[in-house]
Amino acid sequence: MLILKKIVMEVVHRKDLVKYHVRNWQNQKKTIGFVPTMGALHEGHLSLVRRARAECDVVVVSIFVNPLQFNQAADLEKYPRNLEADCRMLEAEQADLIFAPDADAFYERIPAISMEFGPLTSVLEGEMRPGHFSGVAVVVSRLFHIVEPAKAYFGSKDLQQVAVVKRLIQDLDFNLQLVACPTARNEDGLALSSRNARLSPAGLKTASQLNKGLSLAMAEFDIQNPDASQMAAKRFLEKFSDIELEYLEWVDADTMEPVLPGIPVSNPAICLAARVEGVRLIDNMVLENHGNGC
Ligand code: AMP
Repeated sequence: MLILKKIVMEVVHRKDLVKYHVRNWQNQKKTIGFVPTMGALHEGHLSLVRRARAECDVVVVSIFVNPLQFNQAADLEKYPRNLEADCRMLEAEQADLIFAPDADAFYERIPAISMEFGPLTSVLEGEMRPGHFSGVAVVVSRLFHIVEPAKAYFGSKDLQQVAVVKRLIQDLDFNLQLVACPTARNEDGLALSSRNARLSPAGLKTASQLNKGLSLAMAEFDIQNPDASQMAAKRFLEKFSDIELEYLEWVDADTMEPVLPGIPVSNPAICLAARVEGVRLIDNMVLENHGNGC
């Protein structure tokens, strides 16, 4: 006889209710997989949830637009929110628990702490968005304490975030494994993002050129002269007047330090940020195990 396990998903807004479930699961020796998100879910988020579902006994997803990581009030205000649709998608993916706290309840008072990661956050997003990674590190730490996962799933689309959270886990000795998942893209190669919802159809087409720029840099990468491929990609993207490029740089995916001519690096990554129709987008590609680092 085939017995199908029926998963009943629960949506909770209070952390003590999450902790209640966590205690029960721990007593039953179940492994907890955790996917932190800010909602407005798409296939990229769902790919993380699927991976967690495949690897863990229970799957917890948080949906929380964390005010601490927004350095511009307008950006926070415009961030898309749709809890009902998100919950429907997560139910279809057989998530077990959704934690969707209100900002006021989550931070009974605004945290005074700030977290610095040295050179890891002095470039790219860390440079462009002062305080962003401190806000990320604070919310992720709080969520880890509440959910106590064995594994936490993050998207490599936010490559610098992965590097920062890896370091956070090491430095604060969190007892969990970070699983970095590949970037999900649409049929034109555009990295899926909640922010894409703010683009017009023409804007979406324009934004897909970002992927082409990154692919060009990847194809032309030469460790003896990383600037040449960087410049080729920049020149390509500059042809599109609707793309305002903020940065496009080769960095070491693990340390975020610049890739220098002739200095071997195992995972060089080409990273960019750009605005299209005023919407700020980020993307990257990594040359995995380039020359095995030798
Ligand atoms: P966010 O809701 O934007 O904070 O994203 C929540 C998680 O989903 C983060 O770990 C992101 O890196 C990940 N994510 C966002 N977009 C994608 C994507 N296109 N592919 C894979 N993961 C993604």
